[in-house]
Amino acid sequence: MVNGKEQKKRAAISFNPVNPVSPVKAFLPAPSSRPGLYIHIPFCRSKCLYCDFYSVASSAAFPAWLQAVQREAALYKERFHDFDSLYLGGGTPTVLGERQLAQMLDCLHKHFTFCPGSEMTIEANPDSLSRDKLKVIGSLGINRISLGVQSLDDRDLKYLGRSHDSKQALKSLDLVRSCGFADLAADLIYGLETQSMQGWRRTLDRILEFRPEHISCYQLTFESGAPLWKMKAAGRVRSIGEKLESAFFIWTSRYLDKRGYQHYEISNFARCPEFMSRHNLKYWGHVPYLGLGPSAHSFHAGSRWWNVKSIRKYCRLLAEGKAPIEASEVLSEEQLDLETLGLGLRTSAGVDLHALAGRLKMDEALAELQKSGLVKVTNGRILPTRKGFLVADSLPLMLYG
Ligand code: SF4
Repeated sequence: MVNGKEQKKRAAISFNPVNPVSPVKAFLPAPSSRPGLYIHIPFCRSKCLYCDFYSVASSAAFPAWLQAVQREAALYKERFHDFDSLYLGGGTPTVLGERQLAQMLDCLHKHFTFCPGSEMTIEANPDSLSRDKLKVIGSLGINRISLGVQSLDDRDLKYLGRSHDSKQALKSLDLVRSCGFADLAADLIYGLETQSMQGWRRTLDRILEFRPEHISCYQLTFESGAPLWKMKAAGRVRSIGEKLESAFFIWTSRYLDKRGYQHYEISNFARCPEFMSRHNLKYWGHVPYLGLGPSAHSFHAGSRWWNVKSIRKYCRLLAEGKAPIEASEVLSEEQLDLETLGLGLRTSAGVDLHALAGRLKMDEALAELQKSGLVKVTNGRILPTRKGFLVADSLPLMLYG
């Protein structure tokens, strides 16, 4: 599945925060053309209030799920091979026990090959990590831990309905480092009504003490259907508003930039190109990826398909020898162009002007966007500025003719 944590719509194009036009400087390596493998592990300890990812608050269905994943892997083993990234996401993969994690990796290795030096990520939550589990995770070849810290302020964590507190989060950051993992990614959320700019800065400063190789800063979104969305509709919680959200975004980008982090995608920062998420670069670069598990998305040769969002249905369809696909689409040339623009303009690499020549409303629209400080054109590429990142979702339609 394309990781659901990407940020959604941003502030209106007319918003003009203080000094936001500074260019985004991150150098972005071209994504590898090898495919990536995503496994959706739909189990959590409990459901967070803001979450709309498909998962259930129990791992009792693990044996049936694993058998179904094995069947689904068998469907694709001829079409997909030689992966150079694995992303175990969800859900909370680390709610699984050591033995279950080993069984799952064993199943994947039986069906697929991974190139030497593959990036292998597991999403982890602070309350489901232990030294023993991390040792097993390392022994399975997983070399990147994506830790769902979200905040180091207990009021924020309570507001989000997280099942851990700040003490557990700090302990798990320590644990990951002391177990020798050299690629630590910390996930954070900003834009909560419980959070002041000073509080957000305290969280970032504390996180920076661990020198994570990668930091994701997601703006809180009220996803329709999530409990927080219902609480907002009932007037029990509120959004901080676009103006403040944009101020948080710009401030965060500049703050992390000053501390040596490259802002290479709207929500993502890396200490150097080597630590940019190789797996996620495939999503943004139209590189093939295979997603296994309920609700997982896949992309190959201009086609996209996604699985049913139900463990029961997923297992039943595979037991009947059917692919568990909910729907699929073949992207037209125009759709692919628009996506290339949309995905490219979410990253600091931008898009190649010449690859889309003749299809863009070049002269007028591009000049207008440059004048507004939303994009720059450098070395034949359209590059978003920080301010451009704020409206990245609107840029493609403004450019596409
Ligand atoms: S741990 Fe992650 S996947 Fe599970 S409910 Fe919370 S946000 Fe959603």
